[in-house]
Amino acid sequence: MSLDDVVRMIEEGKVKMHEVDELLKDSNLATRARRMYLERRLGVELKAIGSTIIDFNQVYRRNTENTIGAAQIPIGVAGPLLVRGLYANGSYYIPLATTEGALVASVNRGAKVVTENGGARSIVIKDGMARAPLFKLPSAVDSVKFIDWVRLNLSRIKEVAESGSRHLRLNEVQPFMMGNNVWLRLVFNTGDAMGMNMVTIASERVAKWIEDNYQGVRLISVSGNMCVDKKPNAVNFLMGRGKTVVSEAVISRRYLMERFGITPEDVVNVNVRKNLLGSAYAHSYGFNAHFANIITAIFIATGQDVAQVVESSMGTTWAEVNDDGDLYVSVTLPSLEVGTVGGGTGLPTQREALQMLGVQGGGDPPGSNAVKFAEIVAAAVLAGELNLLIAQHRRELGRAHEMLGRAGKQT
Ligand code: NAP
Repeated sequence: MSLDDVVRMIEEGKVKMHEVDELLKDSNLATRARRMYLERRLGVELKAIGSTIIDFNQVYRRNTENTIGAAQIPIGVAGPLLVRGLYANGSYYIPLATTEGALVASVNRGAKVVTENGGARSIVIKDGMARAPLFKLPSAVDSVKFIDWVRLNLSRIKEVAESGSRHLRLNEVQPFMMGNNVWLRLVFNTGDAMGMNMVTIASERVAKWIEDNYQGVRLISVSGNMCVDKKPNAVNFLMGRGKTVVSEAVISRRYLMERFGITPEDVVNVNVRKNLLGSAYAHSYGFNAHFANIITAIFIATGQDVAQVVESSMGTTWAEVNDDGDLYVSVTLPSLEVGTVGGGTGLPTQREALQMLGVQGGGDPPGSNAVKFAEIVAAAVLAGELNLLIAQHRRELGRAHEMLGRAGKQT
């Protein structure tokens, strides 16, 4: 069967676009057929979308459905960035996939400042991916009894949860209730994987076991929105999800004066009034300047789930003048959801980007690559924050974007 025949079959409604992979037993051909169909139907040429090194047979039933090609986003590099973490120890070049001119330059300058001042110290202080199945009970009194029963049966629940995976460990069950609704926020260690598929599959298994063993309880949803995935929220901010990670650095007063003509007090002033006061006034979930910029660019480059930028980029930048009169600056990211296996991390460009950081694939011991990666991401966020605070005090922001975001054209 030729691709023209397949396109005709789609046009005549004899086959659906998503059925073509099975029909042709080849997702690369299926991708071409769908593209040809759309080109004819929409009267557009999709040559650029079709030009990619991705093998769609690797993507089929793993990453995307109904593939027609790929989006390409430029990757810039910032660094070297010196990181002194528990797992990440050395100089790193950070791959940033972005179309925002000036972003890479900004992180690059921040990385230089951090590196020339002894590097960033990063540490993961909590590690746990959460899924919160929602159950319905007859009444609030029954909800309380149910939660007590769950507490008594924790070891059995743990066994059930971990039974289908080599890497999954159930660390905690955090119950929440509202009337006759109960959420069990199940918190897992997921090794080097970000873990959403692993914890969802395990949560379904746990929910079924609970329904089979506790009378009167009914699962409403395996994801009851107290998890919380891909929504801005207070739960993750307080309790953490994925990696809770901190990165910090000390920048000497002398360096700031000589290099930028500014003082630590200048940076603290911008941070307090902008990141803390401005964010409080706006009721933001982020007390920071632009965590999302760096996190999104790293997520795209390294095959993370980009929608999780929502909660991964929550967090706080803290700056103060230390006892030596130098600038202490830190970033705290309560809910950084990253992995070095699974999801999009196995795609060709994404693999290479992870290799640049020395974290591609499973770590030894398992979990160590993902923690190392989180330490590096936090250090890159620190570099980006520091530079933006300096740039805003020096009123460089508009100029930098004019030069680097508009091909140097002055308005
Ligand atoms: P995954 O690829 O579904 O699962 C990870 C797999 O890697 C497991 O089979 C695991 O085996 C294996 N593995 C091998 N070495 C490992 C190591 N060192 N550490 C951990 N696992 C290792 O990936 P995932 O992180 O669970 O899920 C990520 C995907 O979920 C992304 O594509 C994301 O977009 C998607 N997602 C899903 C949902 C959902 O509701 N399901 C929600 C949001 C996002 P074992 O299981 O035997 O340990």
